[in-house]
Amino acid sequence: MTEVTKRDISCILDAHTHRPEHAHMAITNCLVDEVRLSEGGMFHSAGIHPWRLEKGETDGLWNRVETLCRAGEVVAVGETGLDKLTDVPMPEQLAVFRKHVELSERCGLPLIVHCVKAMSELLAVKKELCPRQPWIWHGFRGKPAQARQLLNHGFYLSFGEHYQEGAMLEVPDERLLLETDDSVVGIEELLRRAAKVRGVEQQQLSQVVGKNIRKLFFKG
Ligand SMILES: [Zn+2]
Repeated sequence: MTEVTKRDISCILDAHTHRPEHAHMAITNCLVDEVRLSEGGMFHSAGIHPWRLEKGETDGLWNRVETLCRAGEVVAVGETGLDKLTDVPMPEQLAVFRKHVELSERCGLPLIVHCVKAMSELLAVKKELCPRQPWIWHGFRGKPAQARQLLNHGFYLSFGEHYQEGAMLEVPDERLLLETDDSVVGIEELLRRAAKVRGVEQQQLSQVVGKNIRKLFFKG
């Protein structure tokens, strides 16, 4: 790793974004069929979102995801997952999701997970495949009890603009991430709000989140 790259990594505090304006501080999700790796940020994740499955034609997309992950151009697999609010049948979603899990394991990259109303299905896959790579539940908005359950299953929890404060308080420093996702609110503001919720200084929370990001995405 070059000195320049090391320095750039130190400002990455946003675990997941879709917005180019946040990319300089974030792991940016790339749209695999129109990926522009050089645009915006330097660090990316690649995967097929369950909403994309509605459009079919996933084979071409999947080839692109595999190529990007094998070429070392991305630092995480995802966002991928299970979503009961889409019309795509669960068996189809599960098949594509498993492919992402296997890719994450093969490439040694963490998995960024989107999960809507399908926690039991998700946990069943985790139990069955026993992944060694960390799984990050992105955009966590659940209740404190659900947070505890996921923490017991080894998840990292990533919080965006909206969440239950009690749930965030359940998460120990070493499993906590913040993200802008689709929000226009920047990561600095999300850090400020989260620091208030957790009763710590913003600077202290930045260090916590930065450390987790380096460990997860950069093996630092
Ligand atoms: Zn997202």
